[in-house]
Amino acid sequence: MIISFDLDDTLIPGTKKFDTLERTFLQKLWKVERLRIGTIELMKTCKAKGHKVYVYTTSYRPPRKIWWMFYLYGIKLDKVINQQVHNKFVRIPAKPSKYPPAFNIDLHIDDSKGVEMEGNHFNFRTIIVSEDNLNWAEDILAAIG
Ligand SMILES: [Mg+2]
Repeated sequence: MIISFDLDDTLIPGTKKFDTLERTFLQKLWKVERLRIGTIELMKTCKAKGHKVYVYTTSYRPPRKIWWMFYLYGIKLDKVINQQVHNKFVRIPAKPSKYPPAFNIDLHIDDSKGVEMEGNHFNFRTIIVSEDNLNWAEDILAAIG
């Protein structure tokens, strides 16, 4: 499977708050963003199960910067989709905020109810993670099977 993850308010706290991983000296030096507790273990487990791990964000952070940030956490992302990449490849008149099928993504993880609705409408699979779910990573693994 190809599994994609949203960044803001799903893995990186913004308007939604959750506990984040301690950053190493090197990560602080590179001003790497804080990641939700459980993120790295979850991504590593997904990869160990043979899945591909993508980031799919509506932000304009440069893909190379996002890739490097996860690399400093020990994760080699298989692909990064930001708003620019999305705009280039998703040409649906209804303009969904995200459209994972355009990138052959089987499952998208997000915090947004709107993305969940888009998934129902456009027939793509999502898991919506709430900020207060401490078992979020286990729940995702259980859903992946
Ligand atoms: Mg989000």
